Formats: sequence, C-alpha cells, structure tokens
Amino acid sequence: MTDHNTFRQATRDWLEANCPETMRHPYRNEADACWGGRNCKFQSDDQKNWLERMAAKGWTVPTWPVEYGGAGCDAAQARILTEELARIKARPPLESFGISMLGPPLLKFGSEELKRQHLPPIARGEIRWVQGYSEPNAGSDLASLQTRADDRGDHFIVNGSKIWTSYGDLGDWMFCLVRTDFAAKKHEGISFVMFDMASKGVSTRPIKLISGKSPFAETFLDNVRVEKNQVIGRINDGWTIAKYLLTHEREMIGGSGLARSGGVPVSRTAIEVLGSADGRLGESMLRADIARFEMDERALALTIERARDEVKAGVSLGAAASMFKYYGTELNKRRYELLMSISGGDALDWEGGANHDGFLPKSWLRSKGNSIEGGTSEIQLNIIAKHLLGLPG
Ligand SMILES: Cc1cc2nc3c(=O)[nH]c(=O)nc-3n(C[C@H](O)[C@H](O)[C@H](O)COP(=O)(O)OP(=O)(O)OC[C@H]3O[C@@H](n4cnc5c(N)ncnc54)[C@H](O)[C@@H]3O)c2cc1C
Repeated sequence: MTDHNTFRQATRDWLEANCPETMRHPYRNEADACWGGRNCKFQSDDQKNWLERMAAKGWTVPTWPVEYGGAGCDAAQARILTEELARIKARPPLESFGISMLGPPLLKFGSEELKRQHLPPIARGEIRWVQGYSEPNAGSDLASLQTRADDRGDHFIVNGSKIWTSYGDLGDWMFCLVRTDFAAKKHEGISFVMFDMASKGVSTRPIKLISGKSPFAETFLDNVRVEKNQVIGRINDGWTIAKYLLTHEREMIGGSGLARSGGVPVSRTAIEVLGSADGRLGESMLRADIARFEMDERALALTIERARDEVKAGVSLGAAASMFKYYGTELNKRRYELLMSISGGDALDWEGGANHDGFLPKSWLRSKGNSIEGGTSEIQLNIIAKHLLGLPG
C-alpha cells in the first residue's frame, strides 16, 4: 500500500512538472490527437514534448516490459497512472493502432527479434501502423479473405486488395491477413504478416465519408515482397493471432468513447450550454435521458475496470470483449445523440464557431461507424449468444 502511495505521489509530481498546460483538455478537433509516425506533423511544441516525455518514461505503454519501451508497471501502478492522468484531464500522448491492436499479439506470439524490432518504435510513436484485415468480400466473414501470399523460399509475394484501411494513406507499416494455403479449410490457411507500406507494389486510394473526411483507404497489393521473418506466429496459423488481436481491438473501441470524453460528463456540458435552476437542468426530459446515460456509462466503466483486473490476474478476456465492444459503441452513439440535442441548432455548425471546426457534428457522424468497425454489433451479439450465453448457433 505504502509503495503504491509513493508511486501515486511521484506520478502526480512528475505529471504536474511535465504535462504541458495545453495538453490538459479533452480533444476539440481531429488535430488534437497525436498519431505519431514517420510523417507526423505535430500540432504544437507542447504536443511533441508531451509525447516525447511520456515515451521516455515508458508511459505510452506503461505495462509493457522496459526492454520493449514500456515502464514494466504492474496492474495497480497502471491504474494509478490512468487515474492521475484523468485527474489533470491529460490527453493521451499518442493514439496508436500499434499500441491498441498490434502490440498485444506481438508480445504474446512474436519472436524476440520481432518484438525488439517493432515494439520500441511503437512505444515512441515513430511508426504508424494500419490494419489490413477487411476485403471487398470479407468483412463480417473475415476468414473468407482472398489476398494471396505465394511462397518464394525466404519471402512471400503478396497480391490482393484490402478495404476500409483506416488512415491507410498515412500508415508506415501494415499488419495484414493473407491466405497462404488455398487448399486448407478457410480458417486454417491464413497467415499474419507485416510489411512496410513504402514497399514496391503497395498503393492506396482514399474513400470519402459522409463526415466529409477520408480517414479510410482501399489498399492495393501488387506483387509485394514480404519477408518470412515478418510473420507473427506460425505460417497458416494466423487466425489465432487475428482473433487475439480482435479481442484487444474490440476492447479498445468499446472503451474509446469513455477515453475520448476526456472525463467531461454530459451533464456538465448540458448545464454549461442550457443553464440550470437550483443546480438542476431545466429540461426534465433531457435530464432523465442524461441521468440514464451517465448511470449506464458508469456501470460500463466499472465493468471494464473489473475485467481488466481479471485479465491482469491471468483470466482471458476472450468473448467478453464482444460485450464491451457492443455496449461501449452503442453507448457512444447515445452520447453523441445527447450532445447533439443539448447543442440544438449550434450542433449543425459544420465549419467552426462553438463547435471547434464542426468537431461535434463530425464526431456524431463518426460515432455511427463505431458499431461497424472491429466487427458489427450484430456479429458481437452472435458471439455473446454463442460463447457467453451458450445459446444454440
Ligand atoms: C470506422 C471504420 C473503420 C474501419 N477500419 C478498418 C481498418 O482499419 N482495417 C480493416 O481491415 N477494416 C476496417 N473496417 C472494416 C470493418 O471491419 C468492416 O466494415 C466490418 O467488419 C463489417 O464488414 P462489412 O463492411 O464487409 O459488412 P458486411 O459483413 O457485409 O455486413 C453487412 C451487414 O450484414 C450484417 N451481417 C453480416 N453477417 C451477419 C451475421 N452472420 N449475422 C447477423 N448479421 C450479419 C452486418 O452486421 C451488417 O449490418 C472499418 C470499418 C469502419 C466502419
């Protein structure tokens, strides 16, 4: 206990001294999120300093081992760090698919050589990773993927196309599912490979969304050389890695609404925008909806925290990740519906004003995708029914 109190005090002191004042606010526009990478354009010196200082402490990935860029924190220390960051409303220093998606399977299944090659640059935000899972005919039924990798001895030649690659045009490296055995059953002929997006034969084409942005790309792979030492796990056993990564992706997406709200309760926003009488929001209908939402949000946060403790104690999250993915993303959609109602006509201001470059309506539209990416809500309900409730398939 004393050790943890000492850790908390030291963490608090360090954050006070090192977290720039401008990094102590929730995101107000897309540029507030720092994704790192080779071509990273920092929004400000503060954003750059914040990332560099946190990375030097190993606190972009506090629970990863020190030799891979982490701080080797135990579960209690990691929780204290999260609490202390929330206390000062600090922004995440880094958003990263390398951390939230690739890191866990690389730590669990990767060779020592691959871990040493890839994990430290992920922790420092030097390489931006993108996910090459979905294909035009393989989304919910991901194992139908047809991108092929032909064996050429020490390397593969990869051909095919991927779709919905988030930030595909900005990525430095891709982790990708490819078919290495066309004769095997569909789940058994897949391998999990990694390659540099600057490799010859890799090209991307942006896909535009209703939010006006193009955070997606189609990715085309035309005779791309992928070294065999860039396979995680065994060849043809990529489905095991893919599923493990998905549990982490689903947990991340499910909890992202909680993280992105930056600790600002919807009720506080409502009172700031609509005013209050005797400390109570005047609009009784909205008040009831907000109260219901905040109770559900709190229940989810506590359940995720309990599950994280269980994971740290060695219990596998497994299919429970689908529960968090389903509930967290549906809840995030409710959050933005409420925020839009609270802001009334101002919520439709697309370019600027109170919305900071239309951040609210754009985030509201973006939230619709939460219950599709990483596996749709229907697919999560199927998994919950089959694997958690034991209902017939
Ligand atoms: C914001 C966003 C970001 C994304 N980023 C990436 C990325 O970086 N990399 C990547 O590889 N992919 C990414 N995706 C793709 C995502 O994984 C797929 O869109 C998702 O898996 C669904 O596949 P699909 O679009 O082909 O839809 P389909 O699989 O064609 O599904 C269409 C509809 O049918 C329903 N359906 C399908 N099968 C069943 C079933 N068995 N039971 C009940 N209902 C069913 C679905 O729920 C859905 O409503 C992203 C998607 C979004 C929205």
